Amino acid sequence: MRAIVKEERRPGAVNLRSVPEPRPAGDEVLIRVQSAAVCGSDLHAYEYPKSYEFMKVPVILGHEYSGYVEAVGPQVTLFKPGDRVLGESNRYCGVCPNCRRGRTNICDSNLMTGLHVDGGMAEFIAVPQKLVHHIPENLSFDEATLAQPCSVSFHAVFDNSGIRPNDMVAVFGPGIVGLMAAQGARLLGAAEVVVIGTGEDAQNRLPVAQKLGFKTINIGEQDLLAGFAGITGKERADVVLECSGAVKALADAFRLVKKGGSITLVGIYGSGAEINFAPLVRGEIQIKTSYTATWENYEQSLSLISRGLVQVRPLIDTYPFEEGVQAFVDALNKKVLKPVLKL
Ligand SMILES: [Zn+2]
Ligand SMILES: [Zn+2]
Repeated sequence: MRAIVKEERRPGAVNLRSVPEPRPAGDEVLIRVQSAAVCGSDLHAYEYPKSYEFMKVPVILGHEYSGYVEAVGPQVTLFKPGDRVLGESNRYCGVCPNCRRGRTNICDSNLMTGLHVDGGMAEFIAVPQKLVHHIPENLSFDEATLAQPCSVSFHAVFDNSGIRPNDMVAVFGPGIVGLMAAQGARLLGAAEVVVIGTGEDAQNRLPVAQKLGFKTINIGEQDLLAGFAGITGKERADVVLECSGAVKALADAFRLVKKGGSITLVGIYGSGAEINFAPLVRGEIQIKTSYTATWENYEQSLSLISRGLVQVRPLIDTYPFEEGVQAFVDALNKKVLKPVLKL
C-alpha cells in the first residue's frame, strides 16, 4: 500500500513509499483511510528537532485520519465492514490508574500514533476498537478528520478552562487548536473571544479567524492591552487560552489575564521559560494545563461539527495523497493552515 513514511533520523527524509498492508489483530479495526490531515507534530517529525528523538524510524506518519472499516478482528463487537469511522490519536493502555479513572489522555504508558506506532497517512491503518468512533452521516471524511484536533481544543475549553457565560476570553495562537478553542469558548457563551497572533499570522491565520467571526489582534503591529481594551471595553481577560506554544507568548498571556482569572496552557513549548510568579500569586491567577483529549471530547467534536455549531471548512486545504510531501512543505512555509490529504 502507499504510505507517507519518515525514513531517517534527520530533517526531511519524508517520502511516499510502498509498504506492506497491516492486518487487524483480535480487537482491531482495519480502516481504509479516505482522509488524513497534517498536524504540527507531523511537521516536527519532518523537521526532526532534538525533542523528537523518541520516535520510531521508519514510521508511517499521521494521527488525524478517517475512513471506511475494511475488516475487523474476531473480538471486535462495535464495528463492521463499511462503517464510516475516525480513529483517536493516542494509544492509551486502558489499565493504568489514569486510564481506569477515564483520564486516558494522560495514560502512564501512552503511545502516539504516527510517532511511536505506524500512523494514518496510508491506505490502511489497524487500530484497537476502543479508539474508534462512528462518524455522523452528514459529515464528510475531511470534516470528520478535523474532529481530532477539535477534540484537543474541546478538552481544554470544556474540561479545563472553567469558562463561564459572559467571560471575556483571549486566545493566543490562531492555529487549528486555537481557532477551534475560540469556537468552543463562543459556544459556552463567552461575551467576547479575541484571537491574538503575530506578524507571521497576518497573511493567513488571522484572516481565517476573522472569517469565523472573531475580532483579532496582531501584536506585531498593535499594543496588546490597548488592542484588547479597544475590542472588549475591558482592561484584562477573565480567561486566557494559550494555544500558540510560543515561549514568547507566555509573558503576554500572563500580562493579559485579570486578577482572579485563569490561564489554560494548551501549546507544547520547545524550551523553558523564565517567569516571575509573584504577580500571578498576588493576583490569585490560576494556571491550568490541558493535554490531548478523551473519548468524550471526540464525541463532542463530531456532534458539534455535524450540527454546524463549529466550522472546520474554512481551515482546510486539500491535496491529493500523491502530493502529500508538498503539503508538509506548504504547511511549514505557513502557506496553508491545515492540509488534508485525500486518498
Ligand atoms: Zn494533531
Ligand atoms: Zn493507561
